[in-house]
Amino acid sequence: MNCECKTEFEAKLAERMKADLPEGHADYKAELDNYTLGISDAGLRLEMIIPYKGRVQVPKKAGGLKTQKIDTWIKAAFCPFCGVATAPVAKEGAI
Ligand SMILES: [Zn+2]
Repeated sequence: MNCECKTEFEAKLAERMKADLPEGHADYKAELDNYTLGISDAGLRLEMIIPYKGRVQVPKKAGGLKTQKIDTWIKAAFCPFCGVATAPVAKEGAI
């Protein structure tokens, strides 16, 4: 079951941000990033993802090294705001 933190924090952030905008601003759109819909036995649930990015030098066939990007993510198992489980609990030994 999902918590309502994302929706609640987005509303609070929008209220705070709009207070600093000039009079007459329009079409305000913003949301917390790095959330995705996940499917589990319990149905659809909103899950937070944590990007994992970097680079590594890997050997080329012709010799030498080349840069390879690392660009993936992991799902947060718990909401960072309230601690409610947001993703199925990982099996022992998984990262
Ligand atoms: Zn929460």
